[in-house]
Amino acid sequence: MTNDSSVNGCCEHSERKVNFGPGPAQLPLEVLKNVQAEFLNYNGSGSNVMELSHRSSAFAKIIQEAEQDIRELLSIPESYAVLFLQGGATAQFSAVPLNFLNLKSSQTADYLVTGYWSEKAAKEAEKFGKINWVVPKSDKYRGVPAENTWKLTENSSYFYYCSNETIHGIELEDIPSIVPKDTPIICDMSSNFLTRSFDITKFAMVFASAQKNFGASGLVLVIVRKDLVEKNTNNSIPVTFDYKVQIANASMYNTPPTFSVYIANKMFSWTKRQGGLKSMNQLSDKKSKVVYETIDQSNGFYSNVIENKYRSRVNIPLRIMKDGTANEKLESSFLSEAVKSNMIELKGHRAVGGIRISLYNGVSLQETTKLVDFMRTFQKNNS
Ligand SMILES: *Cc1c(COP(=O)(O)O)cnc(C)c1O
Repeated sequence: MTNDSSVNGCCEHSERKVNFGPGPAQLPLEVLKNVQAEFLNYNGSGSNVMELSHRSSAFAKIIQEAEQDIRELLSIPESYAVLFLQGGATAQFSAVPLNFLNLKSSQTADYLVTGYWSEKAAKEAEKFGKINWVVPKSDKYRGVPAENTWKLTENSSYFYYCSNETIHGIELEDIPSIVPKDTPIICDMSSNFLTRSFDITKFAMVFASAQKNFGASGLVLVIVRKDLVEKNTNNSIPVTFDYKVQIANASMYNTPPTFSVYIANKMFSWTKRQGGLKSMNQLSDKKSKVVYETIDQSNGFYSNVIENKYRSRVNIPLRIMKDGTANEKLESSFLSEAVKSNMIELKGHRAVGGIRISLYNGVSLQETTKLVDFMRTFQKNNS
């Protein structure tokens, strides 16, 4: 086994593998080592961070730094609250309708369903009130139907979408232009958060779970317009889901996921050190480009069926084809040979099958190149 740190930034430790999983995702070695160095004695406290009180000044400094860094990375104005909450992105599927479904007279929210995650969110929201599906339900997601076919609600309480469908590999780079200016837009950015910059002032709220691009699971970051939260008149929201309560208590109504906040803080400052979202955007472009080139130059050996315009830069599902159909035998030998080359977590989601390559911020260009070389060799040996 080689231990080539020039090719593979992760493998200074030979037991480390390159993890292309959909999440929890690989973190930069630099961050892991820093955490390891502080593990038994955080900053002279004599304790691990997870042993510190969430009311301690040491933890207050961590959560405040994390908030400052994310405000800086995304230019978030004071009119937006930044919350560090529990329950992952999935908890927000319930919290969003509970807080915002009654914002407007229609008492109805519009959901653009483009894949697995937005579908899950729409179905959860239906427990709490009226949800309008903007485009017809599909069982083969390959892109986004043209905006002029969408059915929007008059005076909708909010418009909801997912900017990157992690399982289907569909990414919406731009905010849909057809949504009326005064309709609050809410977006699940879990899987492409921090891979590009965006204008937060175009959104009422965005949220992202941490374990894709900024750390450890259990934590969801919520960025929400304070004035909308103030307008909420629903008095029967479960307390930990109530943004009003969470804002009033600076994410500390109860114990926040302190260790995950600590890792998020490290990841935000790592992201800044890399050159911020401009660099992350370039990196994401380069990594996804080499993978899609390999697919598109494979003469149909590798196949990704997503419309070009909506191909995700972050999660790339593909099938390995033989005689015009997806070949599960080749796919399983691809996966086992990848493992032998120390590249793991490449199996596609059961909903779509095949292979899925996830290229979160913690995966380097060198590691992606290593995978692409493997793909070309595998094709040569199997076609
Ligand atoms: C991972 C993911 C979720 C779910 O996150 P949890 O932290 O497991 O709740 C939701 N939406 C998207 C787009 C995701 O990628």
